[in-house]
Amino acid sequence: MSPVPPTTEQVTGLLAGVIDPELGSDIVDLGMVRDVTIDGGQVTIAIGLTTLGCPLRSQIQSDVTARIEGLPGVVEVRIQWAELDADQKAHTMSRARFNAQADRVSTLIPPTCKVLAVSSGKGGVGKSSVTVNLAAGLAVRGFAVGVMDADIWGFSVTRMLGAEGRLAARRDGDRQLIVPQGRALGEGRLEIVSMGNMVDDEEDALMWRGLMLNRAVQHFIEDVAWSPDLDYLLIDMPPGTGDVQMGLARMLPRAEMLIVTTPARSAQKVAARAVTMGRKSHLRIVGVVENMSAFHAPTGEVYSLFGTGGGGELAAEAGIPLLGRIPIEESVAAGSDSGEPIVLKTGPAAQAFAAIVDLIVHEAAPPVEMAGCSARLLDAIEAAVDRA
Ligand code: ADP
Repeated sequence: MSPVPPTTEQVTGLLAGVIDPELGSDIVDLGMVRDVTIDGGQVTIAIGLTTLGCPLRSQIQSDVTARIEGLPGVVEVRIQWAELDADQKAHTMSRARFNAQADRVSTLIPPTCKVLAVSSGKGGVGKSSVTVNLAAGLAVRGFAVGVMDADIWGFSVTRMLGAEGRLAARRDGDRQLIVPQGRALGEGRLEIVSMGNMVDDEEDALMWRGLMLNRAVQHFIEDVAWSPDLDYLLIDMPPGTGDVQMGLARMLPRAEMLIVTTPARSAQKVAARAVTMGRKSHLRIVGVVENMSAFHAPTGEVYSLFGTGGGGELAAEAGIPLLGRIPIEESVAAGSDSGEPIVLKTGPAAQAFAAIVDLIVHEAAPPVEMAGCSARLLDAIEAAVDRA
């Protein structure tokens, strides 16, 4: 039996996560999605551009395709391009201008930044370890990488990345902004925000309850002064699939989810719930990372301490790629304790993390390419609209 095709609402919901990197808003809000037709497994999307020769067309195309292709029941995605007429263009530009002003209060995450929310459904499977290793792996390849520790109670990112200093504040007009902890790494750098940079220990964090907790995550989304050239932002999501997770998805519809699980059946079931939550929230699911896979003893024996195949089964059932398997290795835990993620060293776990980083950069979630685009282009479009 072939899966049920998606609904228009599901397709539009996912398209609302596609940001026009130059105009800085999503393509649905900007009025660029002119039509969506679903015929069995074939989804056709009509997209209007401010100019057909837009250098960002291929960027929008790959983002749209990646998001819609990942929906169950989709066999083919077709995009029909058209140029917006003068009225439509004027509407798009006025929305972009309006949002640019409104955005000043909603987030400082640059529109050209890829946002990856690392989720697991439950704690203890290595979600934070995966977050910091992928972040460090991306940074040594020359990217500017933000790490937001949204696991407010179980924060561990600061220790794992050796960034335990206090967060600084900076005034921007009448707003107070949080300045992340910076750390240069290889050709790139990390920018980190965590409760660990605000309180002394987890006991302190436990005093922040309910509303305060949600507010803390909201602060991290709205008030952090990330660098405008940030390439990736990795969010260490809180465990669970409840209000905080849904709230985060609402605040950041462009986030893409990366699911971490272990080979154990129990972890796989909970991770499947995280996939369902992501789909309900119209987030794209990039793929699955299986952590704590078989332990390879120096003697050559292989021990599957948590069973086998959980990550692969989850990926197959949900129709998403398995990005890789990280073996159980003492050095993963040791690297976390010393603040030097294992991806920066050698060995099977380091290699497995590095391979996933490569896959992310080249295939699963490549950085936004702004080549050929310049502010002058935006000015030219505005001038053309004003003339029309
Ligand atoms: P989560 O964020 O899901 O709660 P953590 O990343 O904090 O999980 O990992 C839980 C514990 O397991 C930590 O002590 C961590 O060092 C350890 N750990 C995680 N992944 C591995 C691995 N592949 N091999 C060995 N230990 C690991």
